Amino acid sequence: MKLIRDVLGLAGIDVSVFELIESHLYIKVGILVVALSLGLSLVFASQKNLPNAVAVLPTSSDFHHAKLVQKVHLSHNTALYRFQIPHPVGHMPGLSPEPILGLPIGQHISLTAEINGKEIQRKYTPTTLDGEDPGHFHLVVKTYDQGNISKYLSLLTLGQTVKVKGPSGRFKYDKNLAPHLLMIAGGTGITPMYQIIKASVQDPEDKTQLRLIYANVNQDDILLRDELKGLERKAAGRLKVHYVLNNPPEKWTGGTGFVTSDMIEQYMPEGGPKVEKSKVLLCGPPPMIEAMKRNLVGLGYPAPKALSKLEDQVFNF
Ligand SMILES: Cc1cc2nc3c(=O)[nH]c(=O)nc-3n(C[C@H](O)[C@H](O)[C@H](O)COP(=O)(O)OP(=O)(O)OC[C@H]3O[C@@H](n4cnc5c(N)ncnc54)[C@H](O)[C@@H]3O)c2cc1C
Repeated sequence: MKLIRDVLGLAGIDVSVFELIESHLYIKVGILVVALSLGLSLVFASQKNLPNAVAVLPTSSDFHHAKLVQKVHLSHNTALYRFQIPHPVGHMPGLSPEPILGLPIGQHISLTAEINGKEIQRKYTPTTLDGEDPGHFHLVVKTYDQGNISKYLSLLTLGQTVKVKGPSGRFKYDKNLAPHLLMIAGGTGITPMYQIIKASVQDPEDKTQLRLIYANVNQDDILLRDELKGLERKAAGRLKVHYVLNNPPEKWTGGTGFVTSDMIEQYMPEGGPKVEKSKVLLCGPPPMIEAMKRNLVGLGYPAPKALSKLEDQVFNF
């Protein structure tokens, strides 16, 4: 302040306003707060576009330790886990941009834990995109009582860490990868689809027609329903979601039973498998996936291979 006043004074400019400012401590504090918030908003604005944010996963093929900082119960057996992305070497809190996972859209991370003396590893797709919650990623995980990693996660307490590795997976989504994407998901198989849908809908240059058939046992099992509704609204006709329940409640207007060929036919593009570059994505419990493969082959789609590749018309996660 003194320096500015001296320079302006030397230039012959009236500096009485500076004297007034200096005499009012609260004005100084106010200026400091405004300057700080301006600085912080600049940091977060640049965070949004992610320049210089370190992508943590590709920095090492070793495991990273992510700390559980928040857990929100979504239903009797499903929770949202918010993890802190470990800070890279040289990170200066408040000054360096918060790190990101660096996970390409459509790919997943692996969580590992030692359970009964054995290293167990499972795949999970974060529901947050890079930079969406600066310095953090979210997982929505259903706990199976007999499960290994899902049960392990459910027993983690805040402040404990989990070993994370990645990115992995053969699918990588880019805008306009396909003119039409038909996604068929069961239960927690929604998470890779959700990530792709979110990235696509948020991109005004993406023209992909998105169709999702989402199957669950009970209405309570439907994950990310409000979020999907919001995306459907935002997509203005580019995204259509069809919910299917094994045990529908009264007045249910979605599909009932298992996902049938007729449902697929209704949501595939006109011309079905013949539509060039159109794709079908599958993720769900193995019995459902086997049934979907049979349905798709019956409709003229190629049988998916044991290990899907990005260029396949039917991709199984
Ligand atoms: C690409 C990809 C992304 C995934 N993302 C997520 C995600 O975001 N969130 C999530 O919750 N899961 C996700 N999964 C599933 C996840 O990888 C695990 O399979 C799941 O958490 C169960 O692992 P577990 O170690 O707890 O159970 P496991 O040790 O594999 O299984 C033990 C027992 O648990 C029960 N069980 C396990 N899975 C199922 C099932 N699907 N249906 C019925 N019973 C089952 C069975 O009783 C089984 O015998 C994803 C899978 C893939 C392939």
